Amino acid sequence: MGAVAARHEQGAQDNPNVIVSRNPATGEVLGEVADQGPEEVRAAVARARLAQRDWRALPIRDRARRVLALRDQVVSRADELCEAISREGGKTRHEALSMEVMVVADLATWFAKRAHEILAPESIPLHLLKNRASYVHYVPRGVVGIIAPWNFPFAIPMGEVVMALLAGNGVVLKPSEMTPLVARKAKELYDAAGLPVDLFQVVTGRGQAGAALIDAGIDYCIFTGSTVTGRKVAAACGERLIPCTLELGGKAPAIVCADADLDRTARALAWGAFANSGQVCVSVERVYAHESVYDELTRKVVDVAQRLRQGDPARGETDLGAMTWDHQVEIVEERLRQAEAAGARVLAGGRRLAGPGLFFQPTVVTECTQDMDVMRKEIFGPVLPIMRVRDDEEAVRLANDSHLGLGAYVFTRDTQRGKRLAEQIEAGTVMVNDCLITYGAPETPWGGVKKSGLGRTHAAQGLRDLCEARHVNYDRLALRRELWWYPYSDRLYRRTLGLLKWLFR
Ligand code: NDP
Repeated sequence: MGAVAARHEQGAQDNPNVIVSRNPATGEVLGEVADQGPEEVRAAVARARLAQRDWRALPIRDRARRVLALRDQVVSRADELCEAISREGGKTRHEALSMEVMVVADLATWFAKRAHEILAPESIPLHLLKNRASYVHYVPRGVVGIIAPWNFPFAIPMGEVVMALLAGNGVVLKPSEMTPLVARKAKELYDAAGLPVDLFQVVTGRGQAGAALIDAGIDYCIFTGSTVTGRKVAAACGERLIPCTLELGGKAPAIVCADADLDRTARALAWGAFANSGQVCVSVERVYAHESVYDELTRKVVDVAQRLRQGDPARGETDLGAMTWDHQVEIVEERLRQAEAAGARVLAGGRRLAGPGLFFQPTVVTECTQDMDVMRKEIFGPVLPIMRVRDDEEAVRLANDSHLGLGAYVFTRDTQRGKRLAEQIEAGTVMVNDCLITYGAPETPWGGVKKSGLGRTHAAQGLRDLCEARHVNYDRLALRRELWWYPYSDRLYRRTLGLLKWLFR
């Protein structure tokens, strides 16, 4: 997101060191934060490092107890949190609760209960060196830098913050310039939970502040955002040899088989494409429907889309809120223009609503072909493009015809067929007969293949990656000397050769 969003430019014109946050549903100014420079970012990392010294020395169960106090704050102040998320991001209050607050409360509970097991030293049986033994123990990395996007301003960074803290690290978070107030609110809850103040900090600013964070002496970087920025982050981390996890863009395909339950599928696809106004990295972004069910599926999806209630995100009965960023609305309009010019038909929605709010109608596009931008480039808006396919093979081939591979979906009544197709799709996660929700299952790995990212967050692997895996090898039986030590001789050579042939004959 190289350009500064127009909704923030107004404040920036008066004072370039300030970022003004507005409610995308109304245009109302919500507050402002500082655009912090490299010095301030560096100082935040240094403070976190100091605080981390005591934190890392705590037994994991004690860290877990303190993290659960943060979870308790999240739960007891859930309503206030949902309001803050909904006001700054535009998603409905229900989505703020179910897709953000609930996810963090559950993730914190799950990892707090299990971190001591997941991070316990692991012994490694040695198949050859029987007189010795090995184990791996997990040592906190130090300070983890988290650079976060605007589409899930609470769930994405705070899940990572919780995991990094449990692993014994300090954390500095750089939220998106679109949603700094949600990050501030998260920090307020953290402080109220009584955790060490400097251990987790928030630095606010534009993209430069993210770049400054990578340069500020962090020991690990978790970046979530676009593939374009992800490349820059990877290069900056590579230059400094900082390990990183990259959670990047998606273009999730959904394959609808001839035997799918079309009522369920239509409802699932509508939710998967329109939840959070389609601003989900694993939103259903393209549908490949078997030709025998294409017409009926399309009718059902259009019917669901047309019944959705769009408007004030704070109202309980609203299904679709506002989009977060005006530039993103323009991208959606451009994708649709291109699709229509190339022969696609918009059967529902297709327009931005008049007024100051960034509302885009839930949109269903049919007669799509694989060469259209709506089928190839990330849309990140409430648009569901549907294309007709002959059979499962063609569907899988087209699903894999993408540079991205974050999530994918298969709809069928036959579980074996679903699993078989799922295994053929190039994506980090494939769900059969549902969509989106595994981000909220902390025990499952999250991450992409191809240009959708590197590494995994969540699951045991995600927690261990926030530590250095250090190997210790020790003697169980002390021999006077080892076979391969000095002095070398012909006899030693022949004995070793004999051993090789005996072992690997
Ligand atoms: P961006 O890549 O534009 O921004 C992500 C973060 O990086 C922001 O905090 C941004 O700051 C910051 N940033 C910008 N430039 C730099 C830089 N040079 N160095 C370091 N940090 C920088 O992504 P968006 O915020 O637009 O997020 C949407 C994207 O995120 C979509 O592509 C979506 O698919 C992806 N995403 C992936 C997820 C996954 O799990 N794989 C989950 C959610 C989203 P600022 O905003 O202030 O410019």
